[in-house]
Amino acid sequence: MTENLISVSYLGAAALFILALGGLKNNESARRGNLYGMIGMTIAVLVTVMAFVTKNYSTLIIVMVGGGALGFVLSRRVQMTQMPELVAILHSLVGLAAVLIGYANFLDTSIHYNGVERTIHDIEVFISIGIGAMTFSGSIVAYGKLGGMIGGQPMLLPARHWLNLAMLVAVVIVGIQFVSAVNHAEAQTMLLIMTVITLVFGIHMVAAIGGADMPVVISMLNSYSGWAAAATGFMLSNDLLIVTGALVGSSGAILSYIMCRAMNRNFISVIAGGFGTATSSSSAAAGGDQGDVTTIDIAETAQLLKSAKQVMVVPGYGMAMAQAQHAISDIAKSLIEKGVNVRFGIHPVAGRMPGHMNVLLAEAKVPYDIVFEMDEVNDDFPNIDVSIIIGANDTVNPSALDDESSPIAGMPVLEVWKGEITIVLKRGMAAGYAGVDNPLFVKENTRMLFGDAKESLDQLYKGL
Ligand code: NDP
Repeated sequence: MTENLISVSYLGAAALFILALGGLKNNESARRGNLYGMIGMTIAVLVTVMAFVTKNYSTLIIVMVGGGALGFVLSRRVQMTQMPELVAILHSLVGLAAVLIGYANFLDTSIHYNGVERTIHDIEVFISIGIGAMTFSGSIVAYGKLGGMIGGQPMLLPARHWLNLAMLVAVVIVGIQFVSAVNHAEAQTMLLIMTVITLVFGIHMVAAIGGADMPVVISMLNSYSGWAAAATGFMLSNDLLIVTGALVGSSGAILSYIMCRAMNRNFISVIAGGFGTATSSSSAAAGGDQGDVTTIDIAETAQLLKSAKQVMVVPGYGMAMAQAQHAISDIAKSLIEKGVNVRFGIHPVAGRMPGHMNVLLAEAKVPYDIVFEMDEVNDDFPNIDVSIIIGANDTVNPSALDDESSPIAGMPVLEVWKGEITIVLKRGMAAGYAGVDNPLFVKENTRMLFGDAKESLDQLYKGL
């Protein structure tokens, strides 16, 4: 394959990746965006194989077919509720790939560089392995936290900021020794020491972040996986990998910023694990006596909805767990036919991954024009007759606004309690992901409809 053909193909693939990102910016064009991404990736893989692989084709084919088949089977099996964990584990694989390629490159004795070129290449190897290791271990912890295998509470070691600083300084010192190592064995030792430190750093960084701040971590790991790929691109002198990695890295960074803004958090403070520290002492922490709740049954709920003019649906992680999106979609359609103004209000961090609720509602064919961002509807609650909260908890918790000691203090929430009546669908009085009690449930105008959200909504649909 000629140099020119490779460059043109890579340019085409990069353009398709940019179009893919552009397509993902709204629901209507998201499918098209995915298609561009798939075509771009197919071109990228084919051209790379044809241009650079000169031997061991059979090994490559076995690995690609095996990996592709595994990915195909797993993606077909994965439940919608497991998507956040899937995303986290995929980030970890990108990190692992960067580490393995870095080591393969380092151990490849056929690669010879001298002088400045060698120093630059060594730095590329070092950075690629470092970011990769941090992304790998951090994503594994995120996977555990999202899947509930590891508790959501922040792990706050004493002097944790000093620990982070010490690890950072150690990495820089080890890096200098790696670059100036007199022989391969010494360099290898330095590389191994750095890998261990960055693995520990990744674990510590994610473990120290409290439940409610996890969205920032997810988008940050997304960004790291991109930078790890970009660093690998520099190491391999592969332009497309540099461009693709930078696209993922920068879009992940922008997403982290959006998440921080949505949660009214300072990025540096989140990363340093500063939030969530009040959990243990907070009066809002879960487990206390929450007061008396007022329950409601299906018939009463149906009656309220039939006589309402303005209805706001607020979905949360419980809707994903119950797979209740189709049921609420049917209810919304039937209410709209009866002349009720139904809207959906989506909190930016509802669910367990950015855009989680939008994906589910799109899957259930809820019309896009009745689905609104939190900021677009939050001022409207005083005009709402009935709000239906489907498995949302932290994102509708008033203590975020009026309890300074709450771990979620300062996070904007959907102010559903300002409406006339709020009906909360959940199975019991369990806390949300941040692990704090929710005073909304005991408010005078709140009614609790206990049970699995899908079962409740199926019955409600019949009741309507
Ligand atoms: P929460 O996690 O706060 O609450 C979910 C609620 O759903 C629980 O209180 C649970 O109560 C209820 N529930 C669970 N299963 C069912 C069911 N089958 N039927 C009915 N209810 C059910 O959800 P939110 O969406 O309000 O908040 C998201 C939280 O997750 C935030 O703290 C956010 O920071 C965090 N997070 C978000 C990420 C993102 O990117 N969006 C990533 C990581 C974390 P019960 O058990 O009593 O039924």
